[in-house]
Amino acid sequence: MDPFVYLAGPARVLFGVGMLDRLPDEAARLGGTRALILSTPNQRAVAEDIARRLGTRAAGIFDGAVMHVPVDTSRAASEEARRLGADCLVPVGGGSTTGLAKAIALDSGLPILAIPTTYAGSEMTPIYGLTDAGGKRTGRDTKVLPKTVIYDPSLTIPLPVPLSVTSGINALAHAAEGFYGQDRNPITDLLAEEGIRALATGLPQVKAAPQDLDARALCLYGAWLCGTVLGLVGMALHHKLCHTLGGTFNLPHAETHTCVLPHALAYNAASAPGAMRRIARALGAPNAAAGVYDLAAQNGAVVALRDLGLAQRDLERAADLAAASPYPNPRPLERGALRALLDDAWHGRRPAA
Ligand code: NAD
Repeated sequence: MDPFVYLAGPARVLFGVGMLDRLPDEAARLGGTRALILSTPNQRAVAEDIARRLGTRAAGIFDGAVMHVPVDTSRAASEEARRLGADCLVPVGGGSTTGLAKAIALDSGLPILAIPTTYAGSEMTPIYGLTDAGGKRTGRDTKVLPKTVIYDPSLTIPLPVPLSVTSGINALAHAAEGFYGQDRNPITDLLAEEGIRALATGLPQVKAAPQDLDARALCLYGAWLCGTVLGLVGMALHHKLCHTLGGTFNLPHAETHTCVLPHALAYNAASAPGAMRRIARALGAPNAAAGVYDLAAQNGAVVALRDLGLAQRDLERAADLAAASPYPNPRPLERGALRALLDDAWHGRRPAA
């Protein structure tokens, strides 16, 4: 076995139905006496429930979280935190809401108690992102890693099935690329394999019975493990492609991951056979790339970039951008092959097994 360094994240995690009841105690544990609760406008009612649960420990709600954390939103939220004298941040929602908390924490150092309601996994990573006119800027800082995370599957019941499936494949992508990341190790491999197995089992169950708490718990558990892998292992082609497509063409995050992942895996398959074997085994499928495609398609997810509104002529520019900056990937980045990958993802073709 090769020598390795494993850096365990410091987060305290509470997992299970009903764990939200522990919120006031957990806020107190962090020393939080004036929590600023964050949400999107859609999830205002959930934020109000969180405020009610926090009682006197709630200082206020900022419900302006939006996709990709625009700098203006981050400034407005930081200003609200200052105005209220907030001493901790409680984002309740998906990656966009957690991302807003991270942006505030980056400047203020306020501790985050995260309550995730999608499978994006941001709560397990020290990665932040901010968008301005010049595009999306990302970085890593342990200051933004949530100190406490409460995963209560009951909060994911209202997550619509199509977003549940694509968000689940977004999580799965972190684990899949974790198998060939440069700084992977046997522990992250274990997390990745168990995370993929949980999602591959849970997502069809959620599709069949969206109100089933056991199925929801399985998916949220898988998302947690996959998010941990994202926080610990550097990602490769798939994540870079999705970052480019999302940032340049303003495509929706989870859906883009779902369309691209089968083709990014097919691109890397011959260069990372061990990773493909483990992904396939966790999926319970004969082939990793085709197995991911089938999981998405059979559960009703959009599998073609053209159905997300990407114009075919934009594929040239996307291929240029993907090939432009070198980054670690098991198979060298060749523009022609990347263009073919994008073509397959645009049409939503099933990768050959
Ligand atoms: P999102 O947070 O944008 O949420 C999408 C929509 O679903 C929002 O309107 C939200 O309010 C709603 N929603 C969330 N949970 C719900 C629920 N349980 N019931 C009903 N509606 C619900 O989407 P996302 O896919 O979770 O996050 C995407 C963003 O997160 C992207 O900007 C991405 O870059 C970022 N991200 C960052 C990291 C990281 O480590 N920094 C990791 C993953 C994703």
